[in-house]
Amino acid sequence: MTDHATAPDGLDALRAGFNGRVILPTDPDYDQQRQHFNQVHDKHPAVIAVPAGTADVVAAVKFARTADLEIAVSSGGKHGAGFSRIEGGIVIDLSGMRAVKVDPDEQTAWLQGGANGGDLQAEALVHGLAGVIGWMRGTGVGGVNLHGGFGMLSSKLGMGADTILELELVTAEGAVLRVSPEENPDLFWALRGAAANFGIVTWVKQRLCPVPDEVLAGSLLYDVEQAAKVLGMLDRYTLEAPEDLTVFGSYTVVPADPDYPAELHGKPALAITIVHIGDPDQAEEDLHPLRELQPALDAIESIGLYDFICSMDQYVAPGRMFWDMIELSGLSEQAIGIVERGAAALAETGLHGEIILVPWGRGRDPEFPNAVTTGMRGDCSIVTGIFWEDPADDERARAWGRSVIAELRADGPVADGVYGNMTDLQDVDRDRRSYGEDDWRRLTELKAKYDPDNVFHLNHNIPPAT
Ligand SMILES: Cc1cc2nc3c(=O)[nH]c(=O)nc-3n(C[C@H](O)[C@H](O)[C@H](O)COP(=O)(O)OP(=O)(O)OC[C@H]3O[C@@H](n4cnc5c(N)ncnc54)[C@H](O)[C@@H]3O)c2cc1C
Repeated sequence: MTDHATAPDGLDALRAGFNGRVILPTDPDYDQQRQHFNQVHDKHPAVIAVPAGTADVVAAVKFARTADLEIAVSSGGKHGAGFSRIEGGIVIDLSGMRAVKVDPDEQTAWLQGGANGGDLQAEALVHGLAGVIGWMRGTGVGGVNLHGGFGMLSSKLGMGADTILELELVTAEGAVLRVSPEENPDLFWALRGAAANFGIVTWVKQRLCPVPDEVLAGSLLYDVEQAAKVLGMLDRYTLEAPEDLTVFGSYTVVPADPDYPAELHGKPALAITIVHIGDPDQAEEDLHPLRELQPALDAIESIGLYDFICSMDQYVAPGRMFWDMIELSGLSEQAIGIVERGAAALAETGLHGEIILVPWGRGRDPEFPNAVTTGMRGDCSIVTGIFWEDPADDERARAWGRSVIAELRADGPVADGVYGNMTDLQDVDRDRRSYGEDDWRRLTELKAKYDPDNVFHLNHNIPPAT
């Protein structure tokens, strides 16, 4: 634990001018505020600044630079690697900046940098609109959408980053920049995919689209026999599916819960989760190929989108967790076999986990090119996520996640992409391959221009060009 006896220089001045909260280890809410969703990360920052607006973010960055404190930035605070917490430095925690302002005529929304999925969809739905952001309520726009973003409307609008139209950025020098296709276009490209490296995004404007009051949404659950058939057609199905239908798969172990068929309790099974925002009759037709493969449970229903998001929250609670992923160019038979064996091995661990399959489908071309790792588009991400409570399980939980990915890597066909939001492991060489040489060079040069001292390094880090 850090020695907190000496307060950093300039703290009184920061506190005096701050509209939000400056929390120190001696404050009663310090312990609660320093917690990370992934309890593997038990860090003790010297200062937690919870800004109320852009001016506070500027003040916190300038203070940190003067006091020589390392900076961690937190939006939803969900990244598994724990980038948003730090031992002994300052956490700039945007949880006090969650405003969302919708323009119904333009079908856009401005979100503050700490807004999360629930904040965006609740405000947008008031106007019959919704946007792309994570499937659960708590993940933040600062992590999810600035570095990719797979959400319920991704088939229609693309990744969250693809829907961003304009941003406000606080740089390592404490300058406030407007970033759009016209202003600072170099940053406009870089922030949509690699923002954490370039500063703190305080506002994001993103595109929305109309959604009906009720959508068809939920999951179909298949036993292992049927699962192989579903996975065999998943690539083609998602490529051919209409843009109103977004789909992902998740191999998991069925809980002993009366909501699930008793014969599947404790066994691996494949859940296919869908959201269809189009005409209900068309939706029934579009879902026919999945239903034809005889799911053991059909839990797709007509439901309000917000209620559906809330229902997704039940799947992951704060605790210990580990994420890793790999990008495959298509789901080969070998890959399907590895996923199946991985699910069986998960059942043996007795821990809660998932092998998530995100078929990026047509990977719509964004209106403006951006720095989302180009290797990702059109491929299938396979993600291992595992969740547990007891620190004694740390090693075997991580070993399971790593081994499934290692086997997939060995058997291929592996693509170059990496979805940094869904891996806790840092690997600069992998990131470089994923961006490709041209984009990587461009990013390192921009890093040297905007953050030459690598002030913002708690992320999948891009080193400044030398
Ligand atoms: C329960 C759960 C559900 C998930 N669901 C999805 C999903 O549906 N779709 C999906 O694509 N991913 C999903 N993910 C992965 C998710 O995209 C990443 O964990 C993401 O980084 C979380 O964003 P955050 O803002 O909550 O994280 P944080 O940990 O707060 O931030 C992540 C990174 O972004 C940086 N950052 C944060 N805010 C800003 C900012 N304003 N400006 C610049 N940099 C910033 C941080 O410094 C850090 O490096 C999920 C993860 C979890 C744990």
